[in-house]
Amino acid sequence: MGDTQRVTAAIAASARLCVLTGAGMSAESGIPTFRDAMSGLWSRFDPAELASEAGFRADPARVWDWYAERRAGVRLAQPNAGHRALGEFARRRPGVLTLVTQNVDDLHQRAGNTGAIQLHGDIQRDHWLEPCTRQPGCDAAAAAPGRPPRCADCGNRVRPGVVWFGEQLPPASLLAAEHAAAACELMLVVGTSGAVWPAAGLASQARRAGAQVVILNPALSEIDAEADLVLRGTAAELLPRLLAG
Ligand code: NAD
Repeated sequence: MGDTQRVTAAIAASARLCVLTGAGMSAESGIPTFRDAMSGLWSRFDPAELASEAGFRADPARVWDWYAERRAGVRLAQPNAGHRALGEFARRRPGVLTLVTQNVDDLHQRAGNTGAIQLHGDIQRDHWLEPCTRQPGCDAAAAAPGRPPRCADCGNRVRPGVVWFGEQLPPASLLAAEHAAAACELMLVVGTSGAVWPAAGLASQARRAGAQVVILNPALSEIDAEADLVLRGTAAELLPRLLAG
């Protein structure tokens, strides 16, 4: 039996499957990853300037425009065969899959995985930069247009609803992801470099709890050593084959 067949059989036999996805999951939908040397966003931009609160405060219009462009790209993108395979699997085997994603796009949700745990937020959902202390508080619907939009009353700015460098992950999402990692029999880690923590630690957490860990990635990742098996290939190639059984 080859590695692919072994993983297909393990998925078919699993009652608790956890799938952790990263930016590579959406690469074949045309959304660039952060770190891929040739096309990665960080090869053209400085992450400290574009994905941090300090960077936003230093140049809000620039950061706002950059996110507006990414947001538009996500709206135009469509789920790829890998997203669709995960959606179909959840429909076919209800209650088996917990999907945890580092992605801020909504392609898993559009493919049917409406309960996907989003560790790093959602690029389509903005929130206020400052917590408003006034009552009843800033009214998002009344935000004055701008780059970024502002509260017409107090000047508070709208910011993208993604987790920036140096920020805490949403506690409930992280807890749910850690629980899924500790409880699963099998974890598939798809399209992540394993460089962003604490998400990268979920694979070792699953392994310590006794799960089998399989990495799906066309290139080396920083957590390959945590895996029982590494399949070299893309999400859209591998997932439909692995999840079809
Ligand atoms: P990353 O950019 O660090 O790494 C991408 C990984 O995907 C690499 O290991 C690469 O080899 C692999 N990859 C490339 N093409 C692939 C394919 N077709 N199939 C499978 N794997 C492929 O991404 P990361 O590990 O997710 O961490 C970076 C952060 O970037 C995350 O926090 C995430 O929120 C954010 N991000 C999200 C999106 C998105 O929402 N689509 C896009 C870019 C970055």
